[in-house]
Amino acid sequence: MDHNVLLHIDGQWRPASGNRTMPIINPATEEQIGTVPHATESDLDEALEAAARGFNTWKRVSAFDRSKLMRKAADILRERAGEIARIMTMEQGKPLAEAKMEILGGADTIDWFAEEARRAYGRIVPARAPGVYQLVIKEPVGPVAAFTPWNFPINQIVRKLSAALATGCSIIVKAPEETPASPAELIRAFVDAGVPKGVIGLVYGVPAEISSYLIPHPIIRKVTFTGSTPVGKHLAEMAGKYMKRATMELGGHAPAIVFDDADVELASKTLAGSKFRNAGQVCVSPTRFLVQEKVFDQFVDSFTKHAKALKVGNGVEDGVQMGPLANERRIPAMEELIADARQRGADVRTGGNRIGNKGYFFEPTVISGMTREMRAMNEEPFGPLALMMPFRDFDEVVEEANRLPFGLASYAFTRSAKTANAIANEVESGMMTINHLGLALPEVPFGGMKDSGYGSEGGSEAIEAYLNTKFVSQAGL
Ligand code: NAD
Repeated sequence: MDHNVLLHIDGQWRPASGNRTMPIINPATEEQIGTVPHATESDLDEALEAAARGFNTWKRVSAFDRSKLMRKAADILRERAGEIARIMTMEQGKPLAEAKMEILGGADTIDWFAEEARRAYGRIVPARAPGVYQLVIKEPVGPVAAFTPWNFPINQIVRKLSAALATGCSIIVKAPEETPASPAELIRAFVDAGVPKGVIGLVYGVPAEISSYLIPHPIIRKVTFTGSTPVGKHLAEMAGKYMKRATMELGGHAPAIVFDDADVELASKTLAGSKFRNAGQVCVSPTRFLVQEKVFDQFVDSFTKHAKALKVGNGVEDGVQMGPLANERRIPAMEELIADARQRGADVRTGGNRIGNKGYFFEPTVISGMTREMRAMNEEPFGPLALMMPFRDFDEVVEEANRLPFGLASYAFTRSAKTANAIANEVESGMMTINHLGLALPEVPFGGMKDSGYGSEGGSEAIEAYLNTKFVSQAGL
C-alpha cells in the first residue's frame, strides 16, 4: 500500500518545499508503507502566514456556523472510519477494532466541542454606578501550535483541533512523523467539510526544529503538547519565555490500587483490559498495581491468566487483541526495564521477551516482587508491563501512589464507599476512576498535575484553554 502523505498549508495539499521525506514503517511487518514530508522553514513561514489569515476569517464565523461545519466533518470521519482504521493499524500497530474505536470516538469529540463552544458565555458584572455596563467577553486566543505523539494518532490531535476550531482559533498541527497518514485523513475530513483555507495547517518534520520555530513566533498565541515529561518541560519553558498560553499533557505512571474488599475478579479483568490496550503505550495506562496483601496472590494469578490468554499479532488480522509496539526503540526500552527488575530480584510471572524477530512484537508481561529501587517503578514504561506490589494498609498505599513526580491517572477498586471517597481525596492525580474504567470522555476533564503537566483536554476546562477573557466597561453618554 502506498501512503505518501502531504503537508496541508493554506488550503493546499503539497510536498515539502525541499522534497525531503522520511519512510513510514509498518511496525507489524517492518515494511515501508509510504513516506512523510519534512517541512522546511519556508514551509513553516507559509503555514504561519496562512494561520494568521485563517484566524482572521474563522474568528468572524459565528459559533453556530463553526459548529455546523465541525459536525459535518465528524460525519465524514464516521463514514470513512473503516478505511482510516486500516491506515492507522498499518502505521501504528493497534488492532483494527481499537483503531476504529479511536476514530469513532474522535467524531464524538468533534461533536461535543462543536456544541460546547456555542455556550462559551461571557457575563455581565453589576456596576457601581448607574448606566455603566461591565461586560466579560470570551475571545479566541489566536493561532495555535499543536504537537502530538504517535500512540493515538487521531485522538491526540482531535481534542486540540476541536477545541481550537470550536472557539474560533486557527491551528497548525505538527503531527507525528511515525504515524502521519491517519492524522492526514482527520484533517481531510475537515477540509472536505469546507473549513476555510489557513484555518488548519498540517506539518511534519524534525520535531525540535518545528517547535523551536513555531513557539517563539509572534503569530502563535498558544502551545499545546502531548508527549513525554522531559520534552514537555522544554516546550513549557519556551512557551513561558515567549509568554504563550500552554497546555501540557505529559507522562504518567498510574497506580492501580486494589483493596482487599474489592471484587478481585472484576478488578483483574478490567485492569488487564486497560493495561494491554494499545500495547500499554497509553499515558493513563495502569502501571503500578498496588494490591492489598490478603488478595495479592489471587489478583496476580487472575491478572496473569488474562495476560497469557491475549492474542498478540498483526492488528489487521481477525481476533488479534494486542498489536506490536509502535516503533523499534520501544523494544530495548522494555528489555532494559525488565532486565533491571530481574537483576534486582523481581519475578517475571509471564512474558518478558520480544516475540520473533520480524515486527516489534512484545509479550504481555506481568512482574511481581517489585521494589521501589527498580527503574520500572520510577520511569514510565509506556509498554505492556504490569508491575505488582503488595501493600498493608491505606496509609502505605497512599504514600506509594504519591511517591513519584507523576500525577496523571489513577485507579482504585473497593466495595467500601468510605474507602472510595478517602482514596479519591488522597491520591495526587488529575484523574481517578473507581471500580470501572471511566476516563477520557470528551465531556469530562482530562489532564494531570505535578510532572504530568497542566491544563485539561476535556470538559468545559478544555474550551477555556483556547479563550482569552476581555473586560469591557461601558458608560452611557
Ligand atoms: P520522545 O520523548 O522522543 O517524544 C515524545 C513525543 O514528543 C513524540 O511525539 C515526539 O515527536 C515529540 N517531541 C520530541 N521532541 C520534541 C520537540 N523538541 N518538540 C516538539 N515535539 C517533540 O519519546 P518517544 O520515544 O517518541 O516516546 C517515548 C516516551 O514518550 C514514552 O516513554 C512516553 O513517556 C512519552 N509519550 C507520551 C505520550 C502521551 O500520551 N502522554 C505519547 C507518546 C509518548
